[in-house]
Amino acid sequence: MTRHDDKLRQVDVNQTPRSSEVATLMRATQRSGAEGLDIALCGVPFDGGSSFRAGARHGPAQIREMSRLIRRAHHLTGTAPFDLCRIADIGDAPVNPLDMDATLQSIQAFFEDIRDAGARALVAGGDHTVTLPILRAIARDGPIALLQIDAHSDTQDRMLGQRYANGTPIRRAIEEGLVDPRRTVQIGIRGTLFAADELDWARQQGVTIINIDELYALGQEEVIARSRKSLGSGPCYVTVDIDVLDPAYAPGTGGLEPGGMNVRELQSLIRGFAGLDIAAADVTEVSPPLDPTGITALAACSVMFELLCLLASDTAPG
Ligand code: MN
Ligand code: MN
Repeated sequence: MTRHDDKLRQVDVNQTPRSSEVATLMRATQRSGAEGLDIALCGVPFDGGSSFRAGARHGPAQIREMSRLIRRAHHLTGTAPFDLCRIADIGDAPVNPLDMDATLQSIQAFFEDIRDAGARALVAGGDHTVTLPILRAIARDGPIALLQIDAHSDTQDRMLGQRYANGTPIRRAIEEGLVDPRRTVQIGIRGTLFAADELDWARQQGVTIINIDELYALGQEEVIARSRKSLGSGPCYVTVDIDVLDPAYAPGTGGLEPGGMNVRELQSLIRGFAGLDIAAADVTEVSPPLDPTGITALAACSVMFELLCLLASDTAPG
């Protein structure tokens, strides 16, 4: 049997209507582990790092539900991820909403298993804290590059005195040597700061910060070119915080920041990173209780599909 014959399928919408069956991410087949997969879709239903408007623990469930709308092929590139490689939904990382320390460990262990199986993870969060334990699993062999698309830098030292929260994961990841700050790019930063010097630490480490005004002044093409230069050619983790979108398009998130990008701009920005060596990727901070319409989760799964196309194109044999 060739690898091509061995692929896993999405549930066929012409046999099983999209309103039927248990929701999985993009209607992928359910699997109990990443063994034999190229790409493992999964969720991390944890929001214990949210200091203000919580609810992102429900993100994976609503993203699965809204991702019933995701079809087979990309409308511009024609990429059909499920035809190119082996993809399944392996469920959620184990979490305990009342125990941050245990949850950081159980998330890390879940992603170590995916890494050891030789698969790459595409993750639905969860608040942004979850990116840290994922990186602890993925970056075992030394610091990797980081592309962060977010309204916030998330490089604070503490929140309410705590080291682990959704405003600190990138600070921790740099301190722990999981990501190389000189190969870290943050795009879309905006909003009021906790202090005028809030971003100084990141800049001093060598992080490239492209704020939302620079993004629009330079244009996407130039921003992508500059970012690629900083990210280099090695493995790169991609993390998207859905609050990079304007609240008009993504009201269901904890840290709303007016003046953001629209969904199409975010989709095309991600598409511009085709060919990047993506080690794993996540989309975080979708809070369904704050958006019963589901448009925030729909935006998130549309962004996940863009990332899936990049991962699948890169994985496909030949
Ligand atoms: Mn954010
Ligand atoms: Mn964030």
